[in-house]
Amino acid sequence: MTRMQSPVLLLLAALLLAGCGGGEGDHAVNRWVAENHADTDCDWVAEGDLAPLADIAARAEAYAVVEVAPDLSGLSAAEKGVLDELVAAGRIMNDLFRVQATPCYDAMQRQVTGYGGPDTKALRRYFAINAGPWDRRMHHEAFVGGWERPEGANFYPRDLTRADLDDIADTNLELDGLFTMVRRDENGDLVAIPYSEFFAPGLAQAAAHLRNAAALTENASLRAFLESRAAAFMSDDYFESDMLWMDLDSRVEVTIGPYEVYEDSKFGFKAAFETFVTVTDPEQSAALGAYKDELPWLEANLPLADEHKNLDRGSESPIRVVDLVYSGGDTRAGIQTIAFNLPNDEKVREAKGSKKVLLRNMMDAKFDKILTPIAETLVAPEQLPYVNSRSFFMHTLWHEMSHGLGPGKLVVDGQETEVRLVLKDTYSTIEEAKADVMGMWDILKLHDAGRDYFPDGIAKKQPVTFLAGMFRSVRFGINEAHGQANAIQFNYLMEKGAIAHDPATGKFHVNFERFAPAVELLLNELLVMQAEADYAAAQAIIERYAHMPPVLADALARLESIPVDIEPVFSHYPDQ
Ligand SMILES: [Zn+2]
Repeated sequence: MTRMQSPVLLLLAALLLAGCGGGEGDHAVNRWVAENHADTDCDWVAEGDLAPLADIAARAEAYAVVEVAPDLSGLSAAEKGVLDELVAAGRIMNDLFRVQATPCYDAMQRQVTGYGGPDTKALRRYFAINAGPWDRRMHHEAFVGGWERPEGANFYPRDLTRADLDDIADTNLELDGLFTMVRRDENGDLVAIPYSEFFAPGLAQAAAHLRNAAALTENASLRAFLESRAAAFMSDDYFESDMLWMDLDSRVEVTIGPYEVYEDSKFGFKAAFETFVTVTDPEQSAALGAYKDELPWLEANLPLADEHKNLDRGSESPIRVVDLVYSGGDTRAGIQTIAFNLPNDEKVREAKGSKKVLLRNMMDAKFDKILTPIAETLVAPEQLPYVNSRSFFMHTLWHEMSHGLGPGKLVVDGQETEVRLVLKDTYSTIEEAKADVMGMWDILKLHDAGRDYFPDGIAKKQPVTFLAGMFRSVRFGINEAHGQANAIQFNYLMEKGAIAHDPATGKFHVNFERFAPAVELLLNELLVMQAEADYAAAQAIIERYAHMPPVLADALARLESIPVDIEPVFSHYPDQ
């Protein structure tokens, strides 16, 4: 039709194409990569088979969509302006991570968007959740395209030879830098390109947003961090800004930059970009301050001989409780974080320790979408009303605080040592079990002593929520410390009759009379083996309790249709 020549229609067509999110133009993640380092040979992508795996819909459904919308009404106009700039910088981190994670990301995204077969919607969604075509929950199995994931993601060229691998592992060649991408030069030799150069367009833009935010904020600690981090994007030197991040004390906060090295699953050398943009709830922060003041009293009252108590334990690493406003990059892909501990730089940790940040609204989201249906399936109906999100959050918070209580440094045979060193391979399991059990004990102990921090009915709410939480934790398997720790607690409390199973209904309940004494008994056992450096006792308790009895395996089998994790949708800052 001749009317198609109309400039208006052409413009409309161009707008539609640009807006389809097909990895083109404004949406291409590689627009943030310096021109001379952009993906060149992506022809192999076109050879992929675009029919996704048959169970793609079920895989996508394992992630329940959750609207994440913290209350921002108390923020000033300046603080809201700061948030806008931080999220704009964070969106760039989200794109940079995609470049790091997936070779030829834009070409793949175009293919996936163009696919018109069955399961189109699930496929697009799952590609977004995983930041590429590989299933992060299933050992990076390709769910579309049949493309094999390079173990070193896109941090290295795809065609690495054996000799190349040796070169990368050889630290003298300096290909192992935390903040460099490895590529080939014109002679085919491997070279390390600093992030500041490789991602120059993206990092310059992100730095500009951080500086805009610094100009808007009235908080000096935030301004100092933002200016320093913007400079780090240009210099690849993150030390000073990591130090300033430890000192942040602001209503609006951000964690932004290259941090974790898991994405480089070949070598663990390369840091992946990510961001958490958060707001602090003043009420929560005040409550946290009051809880911290109780730590010396709790230490003095631990079920442990006085000689083993650690009454002058120094100041521990800080804990912050925040609500997530936006996340991007490494942390946004796959399983969602509810707490993180940064920075990783040992020099910063030596000077200032590290900071634990708890994402309260993400915990609430997991409570609603995962813990609630687990409880509905496995907790006796008369106790179901006791399962509540506040108790779920409080247990996580007191678990973290409990890591700072009890034996730490020890003297064994006149020698100074640490619990971590003497318990060796059993340490993580025993320490996680201790923190879980003590977290429960702390709350009951404070409540018994008449403190009024906690909601009415806490003596029942906390144990029943704890019972439901154990099923959620052992669901991830009992091959690592957290799963083992939960299996120990479950089996110990069953043995003491503190929790019980009704074979007729298949449901579990708490026996309140027996619960608190059993918790204290288990806590005592764990503390004594730590204080007495008793490696044999640690091995024995793991041997005896860290297993999956049929009653637990049967219970877990009934949870199969319940989501495994969540996919956050940030209502204040939706994806563009
Ligand atoms: Zn822990």
